[in-house]
Amino acid sequence: MTTVETYGTLADAARALGSDAVYLGGGTLVMREVNAGRAPARVLRVTDPGLAEIRASGDAASLGAGVTMADVLAARELDFLHPVARVIGGPQVRNMATVAGNLFAAHPYGDFAMALLALGARVHFAGGGSPRPVEEVLRDRERGGLVASVEVPRPRDPRAFGFLKVSRVKPKGVSILSIAALLPREGGRIRGARVAFGAMGPTPLRAAGAERALEGQTLDAATIARAADQAADGLDPPTDALATAWYRREVAGVHLSRLLQRMERG
Ligand SMILES: Cc1cc2nc3c(=O)[nH]c(=O)nc-3n(C[C@H](O)[C@H](O)[C@H](O)COP(=O)(O)OP(=O)(O)OC[C@H]3O[C@@H](n4cnc5c(N)ncnc54)[C@H](O)[C@@H]3O)c2cc1C
Repeated sequence: MTTVETYGTLADAARALGSDAVYLGGGTLVMREVNAGRAPARVLRVTDPGLAEIRASGDAASLGAGVTMADVLAARELDFLHPVARVIGGPQVRNMATVAGNLFAAHPYGDFAMALLALGARVHFAGGGSPRPVEEVLRDRERGGLVASVEVPRPRDPRAFGFLKVSRVKPKGVSILSIAALLPREGGRIRGARVAFGAMGPTPLRAAGAERALEGQTLDAATIARAADQAADGLDPPTDALATAWYRREVAGVHLSRLLQRMERG
């Protein structure tokens, strides 16, 4: 039997969490487990409306853990994230699926978390303390407790951020892979390249080889070819019902090249 416990604050829920309990965000994944009889005995939920808050200042935005993909799409100040939120599931999923839940969604999910990784977002946990880079949180999902909010740097030039999702069923199919790139430019050269892939490892991962090929370069055909060549370097794609690891490796460079060409055109 499953019991549902409701708390007024995230801090109270965090204190009540244990190995026999699971936190319920939007529930798109947790409820599947509950319905299949695979969920832990206790399901914890929080009613604090602050968890659904979006706050945007000049160069950063703070997204409460309970902000949904539909909330992101309704927020004009988050327009750089609209292409990402728009392709997560169908309308019903987007109405429920939260930003924090996406950080813990297993392969092949995690498209939004992958974009947060490329953007260099940081995660705030219940109970305060310093925010942790999303990269660290993805690497170590079991530890850290309950997410309170995510702080996302807003790209100064919206054209510096690009996103691409590859799926068999369009527009809402599950990812064969997804890619996000942040390529800020100074004097025409890329400074601080960040490229991330989704569905190319157990969690979203940065593509170190592609980032090296892009850093300090102008975004032209030769640079794009070098980055595409290195696309799968250091990634660990799984085989699943959608694609084999071999296929994912083969097409990673092709799709990265398409995304970078689109960003080159501006
Ligand atoms: C039909 C369908 C289509 C989907 N399509 C996509 C897709 O295209 N792309 C994609 O990325 N995902 C997709 N998903 C997966 C899922 O909907 C999303 O990843 C969603 O963002 C998960 O968020 P949630 O709030 O529903 O998570 P929940 O189901 O509530 O929770 C998922 C996990 O996150 C944990 N969690 C939730 N909130 C917190 C928190 N504040 N702190 C710590 N842990 C927390 C939960 O305990 C649980 O372990 C799809 C799911 C379905 C059912």
